[in-house]
Amino acid sequence: MSAAPKSVTPPSPFKVAVRDLPATRTVAVSAAFVADAVKGLPLRDALDGDAATLDDGGTAVLELYGDEENVHVSGTVTGKVTVACGRCVGPVGLELGEPVRVTFLPPHSMPADDLASVEDVELGENDLDVYPFDGETVDLEPLIREQFVLAVPFAPLCREDCLGLCPQCGADRNHAPCVCEKPVDPRFAALQGLKLPS
Ligand SMILES: [Zn+2]
Ligand SMILES: [Zn+2]
Repeated sequence: MSAAPKSVTPPSPFKVAVRDLPATRTVAVSAAFVADAVKGLPLRDALDGDAATLDDGGTAVLELYGDEENVHVSGTVTGKVTVACGRCVGPVGLELGEPVRVTFLPPHSMPADDLASVEDVELGENDLDVYPFDGETVDLEPLIREQFVLAVPFAPLCREDCLGLCPQCGADRNHAPCVCEKPVDPRFAALQGLKLPS
């Protein structure tokens, strides 16, 4: 250790100083981190129990290098996030492992919201995602959070042919068929509600 740091804040595993680039950073992702990242998603909040006790989490292995302006980050975020099945509300463990490739841009080159200026930013052909940074320190936390959010599909299923809950009695039809009548086909239900002029 050389000069004493100005601040006593402990170094965050998510933060990488531009002066340390190029660098490879391995970050352990805890269940609590995942729980915070996906909090508020309806099919996450529908899960029973304490989210922090799930065996969610993972590991981010990211390589960072800077050019004169930007910081390019690539690697993988692997791990698991649990959500509720869109039909039966049972737990569904989703695996992460897609490659990540993003570019961090300093404030003056962050594109405005209009698409025209996005095209002005010179990005590699696979750099679809951009994040801001202050020019000195890259914060990997929002990038890693987003990977867990992106892993949750609009309608996750515990299995393709999940039978779901009975809309009338609420029984989980994966475990046992219930005795309710088969619901009327919604197309005919609409017709039944139709008042024909007499
Ligand atoms: Zn299900
Ligand atoms: Zn039923």
